[in-house]
Amino acid sequence: MRIAAQPTTLVTPPTGVPAARDLVTLADVDAGIRGCRACPRLVQWREAVAQQRRAAYRDDQYWGAAVPGFGCTAPEILIVGLAPGAHGANRTGRLFTGDRSGDWLFASLFRVGLASLPYSVGRDDGQHLYRTRLTAAVHCAPPANRPTTSEARQCGQWLDAELLLLAAGLSVIVVLGGFAWQAVISSLIRLGVTSLRPRPAFGHGRHHHVTMATGRVALLASYHPSQQNTFTGRLTAHMMDEVLATAAAIADARPRGNHSDVTRVSG
Ligand code: SF4
Repeated sequence: MRIAAQPTTLVTPPTGVPAARDLVTLADVDAGIRGCRACPRLVQWREAVAQQRRAAYRDDQYWGAAVPGFGCTAPEILIVGLAPGAHGANRTGRLFTGDRSGDWLFASLFRVGLASLPYSVGRDDGQHLYRTRLTAAVHCAPPANRPTTSEARQCGQWLDAELLLLAAGLSVIVVLGGFAWQAVISSLIRLGVTSLRPRPAFGHGRHHHVTMATGRVALLASYHPSQQNTFTGRLTAHMMDEVLATAAAIADARPRGNHSDVTRVSG
């Protein structure tokens, strides 16, 4: 599969938001996400949740805004989740931080050597990711964890921009869950990949390869570490570790180019 050098059909941003191709640094993308108010329903929801708060967090100052990616700024591994949790990332301001899904994911990242700590509880907890960055298909907490199709398409502008900027160093994109899988495939198609039709089906442990102008990138699918999946045993710790260890092994096997092990965090 080959990605075109020039993307063709990127998402049209709302008025006042720069197009993905005009965002030249990851800091631009992160800042753009933080200030984004393009989806009225999600803006209303994230702010209402932040106002009302859950009893257990009544003393917390909720983030209540869109949550940018977190981790290495030149990653070899990009992990794409669904969206911030209402009382997790929407509270703490860091993806997969402060809820059960995040506990599960960060414990696994730590076990396979991609995180400095086995937990992620807040933006000042000292957590660092190694060679890895987390992002999301949708950057605002959605009601019932269900963004609409149009919200996912709107937020695709940020995924397009992030992928454009990170493509050169990426070895693997780990996609958590079917919703994010569709979002990543859509983004790659917008970025010019023509060989993802028909779309590859989502399935835990499945992987596909995309040849980008900068080299091969593996798409690796995993069930999302939601409580629904982990409580029922649909996704076990061993299964999560296997996926992330596979991602690390793929990254290890790629010849070193302009990769970086820098773990400077953003967000
Ligand atoms: S979901 Fe994405 S596009 Fe919509 S308001 Fe949030 S950051 Fe902006």
